[in-house]
Amino acid sequence: MKAQGFGDYLVERKVITVEQHKTALSIQNKNRLLGQIAREENYLNDLDVEKILSYMEGHPHMMFGEAAISLGYISATQLRYLLDLRTSRKVRIGEILVAQEFINEDTLHAELMNYNAKRKKLEKILVCDPSGTIGKLLESMLRKYGYDVAHAKSGLDALEAASKYKPDIIITSNVLLDMNGYELCKRLLGNPATAGIYSILLSSNLNEDIMQQAFDAGVTHFLRKPLKESELINTVIRIERSEFEKRPEKILIVDDSLGARMAIHKELFHTWSNLIMAENGEKALEIARREKPDIITMDVEMPVMGGLEACRLLKDYPETAETPVIFVTASDSHDLRLRGFEAGAVEYFSKPFSPGLLNSFIRMLCESAKIRKSEKILVVEDSDTTRHIIRYFLQKNGYNVYTAKNGQEAWEAMPKIRPDLIVLDCYMPKMDGFEFINNLKKNDEFYRIPVLMLTSSKNKLDVVRGFAEGAVDFITKPFDEAEMIARITSHLRSRKLLEELEEEKGKLKVTLKQLEDANHILERLSVMDGLTGLANRRHFDEILASEWKRAIRERHPISMLMIDIDYFKRYNDAYGHQMGDECIKKVAAKIKEQSKRSSDLAARYGGEEFALILPLTDLEGAVAVAEIMRMEVEAMGIPHLYSTIATTVTISVGFATVTPEEGISSGELVEMADKALYDAKHSGRNRVKRYNPRSGGKVNPINF
Ligand code: GH3
Ligand code: MG
Ligand code: MG
Ligand code: MG
Repeated sequence: MKAQGFGDYLVERKVITVEQHKTALSIQNKNRLLGQIAREENYLNDLDVEKILSYMEGHPHMMFGEAAISLGYISATQLRYLLDLRTSRKVRIGEILVAQEFINEDTLHAELMNYNAKRKKLEKILVCDPSGTIGKLLESMLRKYGYDVAHAKSGLDALEAASKYKPDIIITSNVLLDMNGYELCKRLLGNPATAGIYSILLSSNLNEDIMQQAFDAGVTHFLRKPLKESELINTVIRIERSEFEKRPEKILIVDDSLGARMAIHKELFHTWSNLIMAENGEKALEIARREKPDIITMDVEMPVMGGLEACRLLKDYPETAETPVIFVTASDSHDLRLRGFEAGAVEYFSKPFSPGLLNSFIRMLCESAKIRKSEKILVVEDSDTTRHIIRYFLQKNGYNVYTAKNGQEAWEAMPKIRPDLIVLDCYMPKMDGFEFINNLKKNDEFYRIPVLMLTSSKNKLDVVRGFAEGAVDFITKPFDEAEMIARITSHLRSRKLLEELEEEKGKLKVTLKQLEDANHILERLSVMDGLTGLANRRHFDEILASEWKRAIRERHPISMLMIDIDYFKRYNDAYGHQMGDECIKKVAAKIKEQSKRSSDLAARYGGEEFALILPLTDLEGAVAVAEIMRMEVEAMGIPHLYSTIATTVTISVGFATVTPEEGISSGELVEMADKALYDAKHSGRNRVKRYNPRSGGKVNPINF
């Protein structure tokens, strides 16, 4: 939530117009140029500033401070200090409005009284100074603005006062009798009872060493002697603002060491209002389920339950499964990182971490929470800087990012991470990018993962080689965030489409299989041969069985004809399969014509073999049917120039007639007819043969 500034307040009350407010703000900003402040502090001279400005022209996204650090003119500590100076030296908006004659002094005072009475503010300030004179001075200044002030003369005194009085802010001289001012701040921030306190260090000679120590101790603001009221109030108001603009996300800090917990707390409390602590994994689980934190920082080695196990167990509960877990641990190894990522960690910080890093990472996680994506990207790059920049860009855009320092590390991590996309450097120690991608493409599980290779713009040959190995795209160093994200998003999208397509294909395959099964069933249920329209083999078997039983029951004879087209292979070979089919159809039709009774059944027995069941038919009947059938087929005159016994298509017929008895199977009748057919073929084809008992068989044929 944004705290309302005095300017906004005046606009809302229609004391000034929006335009006037804008004008005042731009005047206020003009006086706060960092270059100017740095010059006043003798960090930079005019020439330096000029060089920095021209450097910035070539780097459009770079801020002045960043450019000054890049060029080596100032240190990061000095920049922090300059930024703090800029805050305290800010010309207050009310003064500008009066100077611009947008309002008069009386209005300003009246409105300020009103505004200060209404605005949310911190109340208690503890001042620590050995002489007491500065304390008095500060008190008189602060009281005017409605603050309550308490005093302490030494560090120990201040520690005791702080735990009783619970101040929001401590302002301490750096030189105390029993300890340094920043040491006092450090101790206050390291104690859970006073951990949320803001500290301002008061000093007349601030060198870089003191500044650095103070920043490390958790001091964020400095006041310089001689003390100016405007600087004091600006700083206090700045603290107030940040207090009321703290982010609402809940963060759970898990570490067994109080010191480590407080160090993380110190890093985060300026930005987040909701910090919770736990001293082991078990407590963390219990708290996480109850409090549902937005983010968890987790130590690895802890008594009762360690971080890895806790992280895995968090994933088991739907309410905590998606909570990002950041490992913050003293033990740093590739193996541990892997196990952390495997357990579901999103990032890994080694203790002690540089101030600001964890904070900005968590801030980025919170900001990208709305756009958090499910895709995992593995970044393989040996240069620390490049790897970190890419990781940062990707995380900022909501991706889950994993990193490896070379191909070998990445290869080992593949089964654990299973990334959706890989960003791969070309040249790395141990295993370079080309070898990695070569391995990837040979792997059944991973070959589909799109790989984007990182290359410097000069090496066109790398691009050619990369594409040859199977890279889908290239990112050229130095790279542009927007372009890189656009490329990655596009490749992830096409990969997703491909997967969806494959899933559809899979579904289609299933449907096809189901269709085939259904067809199979239908086929089995059906009784007809598709080509000829005669009974199929299955139906033939069924009918024969039932007619066989009937013949046994009624003691009637039954005849069976087996028919085979002569030299049909040659016909097929000469006239083609399609003509062959036509021929089969015509012959089948003639056979069908001979099944005149309703109980007769003509069937397609095999390729160009047919069978005719003639129940209640004796030998004479069977001979007649067979002979007519043979003649009729010959009479059709279907040309067959490759037959050695005729110029047209002919058939051979073998038949058997039996009056069946209990204990013999219908299969034996088929066998007898088949033997007779064999006989017909061997005695010259285009003829009818009856079964000859001398050829063998168990059954004694009747009437033979
Ligand atoms: P034989 O006079 O000894 O019976 O000689 P053949 O060539 O007719 O006998 P063989 O059993 O060697 O060959 C039968 C051929 O019938 C083989 C196959 O190519 C053909 N055939 C079987 N079923 C079909 C079918 O459904 N359509 C067609 N076009 N040809 C078939
Ligand atoms: Mg490299
Ligand atoms: Mg044949
Ligand atoms: Mg045959």
